[in-house]
Formats: sequence, C-alpha cells, structure tokens
Amino acid sequence: MTKSALDLDLSDWKIWAQEHNFPRYLAKQIYQWIFHKNSLNPSYFTNLSLPIREKLSTSFYWELFTIDSHLISSDKSKKILLKTRDNLLVEMMLMPYDKRITLCISSQVGCKMGCTFCQTGKMGFKRNLSTGEILAQIHLANSILQQGEGGKKVTNVVFMGMGEPLDNYEAVIKACRTIIHPDGFGLSKSRVTLSTAGVVPQIRKLAQDLPVCLAVSLHAASDVKRSKMMPINRRYSLEELKKALLDYAGPSRKSVTFEYVLIEGVNDSIKDAKDLVRYLHGFKAKVNLIPINHFPGLEMRPSETERIRAFQSYLSARSIPCPVRYSRGQDVSGGCGQLAAKRKEEVLHDPRTVHRRKRLLSRVKSSKVESQA
Ligand code: SAH
Ligand code: SF4
Repeated sequence: MTKSALDLDLSDWKIWAQEHNFPRYLAKQIYQWIFHKNSLNPSYFTNLSLPIREKLSTSFYWELFTIDSHLISSDKSKKILLKTRDNLLVEMMLMPYDKRITLCISSQVGCKMGCTFCQTGKMGFKRNLSTGEILAQIHLANSILQQGEGGKKVTNVVFMGMGEPLDNYEAVIKACRTIIHPDGFGLSKSRVTLSTAGVVPQIRKLAQDLPVCLAVSLHAASDVKRSKMMPINRRYSLEELKKALLDYAGPSRKSVTFEYVLIEGVNDSIKDAKDLVRYLHGFKAKVNLIPINHFPGLEMRPSETERIRAFQSYLSARSIPCPVRYSRGQDVSGGCGQLAAKRKEEVLHDPRTVHRRKRLLSRVKSSKVESQA
C-alpha cells in the first residue's frame, strides 16, 4: 500500500479499474464516493461489490491527516492544525460568512519564497503537499461541517494558507481539477482562488491550463521596495508580473485581486499609494488592504489607523475598490503559518483549544480524515 486514494483523479481510476479487470464505469462511482459524497471508507461504497470494496481498502491508504489541534476564533473562524503521516504540521482555516463557507488551504509545508513579513516564509521549506493532501483538507472541512452544521459544505476554496501554490504547480492543478469537477467537489471555477507571490512563468501556464481566480500578493509597487520584502521580485520584476497578469486577465479584463499588507513606515505612505495606482493602470483591480498580522520575532508593525485611512482614501478617490481586511481569526493565530509556528504544547494548553478539540475529536471519528456518506 503506497498510494493515497485521494491522489487519483477520474482518469487514474479508469486506469486502475482496467488494470484489475473491473468495469470502467466503476471509476466514476469511486470518484463520486470519495469527493462528491465525501466518504473515505470503502466499506460504505454500497453500490460496489464486496470484493471491489475490499480491494480498495487494502490497495490504498485513506487517512492523510490527524487533527493536531483546533481553535475557534471570536469571529467564528476555525483554525485547524493537521499532522501529516510524516509528522509535519499543516494548517487550514474555515471561515463561515452567511451562506458562503470559505476554506483557506495550504499547498506546501513551509515555503521557499522567503518573504520578510511572513511566518511561513521564516519557517523555510519542508516539502510540497501531494494532490491528495491538498484535497484531504477540503474533505476534512466538509466532514466537520456535515457533522456540526446540518450538512453544509465548503463553498469557496482559497489557496492562502501555507506555501506558494504556483511553486507546487502539478499537484495544485490536479487538485483544482477535482475541486471543480462535477463528480468531484463540484465548485465553479469562480469559487477557487490561487494566491501567488508572483511566479510569472506559472501564471502564464495557469492561464492556459486552468484559469481560476487569481490573487496576487503585491505589497509594494516599486521594485526596490518589493525586492526587499519579497525575494521573488528579484527574479520577476513588477513589469514582467504586470504583463503576465494583463495577459491572464485577457481582453475581457477579468478582474484581478491584489493583496497589500500595510506595514508601518515600510509601504504605507502616500508615495507608496501613488506607485500602486500607477501600477494598477490597465487592470480591473481590487486591492485588499491588510494591516500586517504581528507574530513573535517580527519587527514590523501594522500601520496606524490614520495612515491606513489616508492610503485607502487615496486609492478610493481614484476609483479602486480597496476594502481594509483584518486577517480573520486574529485571536487564533489567523495569519499565514502562524498556528503551525506555535509550539504544539502551547496550542494544546490554550484553553480555547482543549475544550473544542475534545468535542471535535469525538465528532470526527478517531481524529482521522474519515467520514461516512
Ligand atoms: N504564497 C501565497 C499564498 C499564501 S500567503 C502568497 O504569498 O500569495 C497568503 C497571504 O498571506 C499572502 O497575501 C501573504 O502576503 C499574506 N501574509 C503573509 N504574512 C502575513 C502577515 N504577517 N500579515 C498579513 N498577511 C500576511
Ligand atoms: Fe511564501 Fe506567500 Fe509567505 Fe511569501 S507570503 S513566504 S510566498 S507563503
């Protein structure tokens, strides 16, 4: 048993069925059970024969994560820390908002990009997540929702957890195909967002392969500043990034979201806002202004409210939509990589965790990624 069942897409299941002399239509049934019906227990795949169910159970492993800890924020966001089979920590965040339930997922353990303001960047890079591990996060979130909130499911997926999704391109794209497949999780493309620091060749490739929504972590609109904050800018300049993004938006000028963390005295002056406006010329852009989330050891501070307002007013006066977004779940280490970076002991002794964790674990059987349809 070397493979996870969650790594296989529909065509992989067809090949598997053929190799075992099972009928081809089986592929769709298995795929639907796993993703559409959110089940990871072949003994519940009731429209399949017993020998096939047994073959499935013994040929693959079905559990990719255990829940390490779980925090619920006052804004109802749930931050869930998962442990991989090789004992690495990965985080995801479930953010309910009326009917929309957004899941923020990770694509890597750590990150190579080394952005100076990011806790995941400070961790360094451990490894890529597999397609199965990316999809298992959605699976687990749906299991939690189904058991706790009357059959609800994740409605939107954003790759804004740990890692740079375009640096794990093949696994991420394969996962996205299952996220949007009608027999998979069945979300529309407009409900899947990849956030990137700006890996230009992969942005161009994505435009060809699967143009889902794109969010770009910009954070500065001058090369000197951005290169200091985000080393990737030394490889792909703002100009190259802009060309790739305009091509991505295409002639219909699909909208692009830009993320801009506001850091006191670093990128929050009116001159910075002017640079940003100039850079955004030609885009149908939306800018999320995010006062930087502080974490231990970070010397940068979020901008003062006055400065945020002035920055926002400058953009608004030039017709650029620019809501100020406070990271959700700030009281539960809401920022990217922040929960995984806390020592496990600390998390487990947090009174918000212990109580919730027990309840959650009793709901999600044996704390494994497992559910029944
Ligand atoms: N690697 C991708 C996606 C993961 S990071 C990217 O960089 O876009 C998700 C978002 O969190 C990015 O916009 C990133 O810039 C932001 N982020 C990182 N550190 C942060 C911090 N300390 N405070 C607020 N946002 C932060
Ligand atoms: Fe990586 Fe994104 Fe953090 Fe930069 S901001 S280090 S790209 S996770």
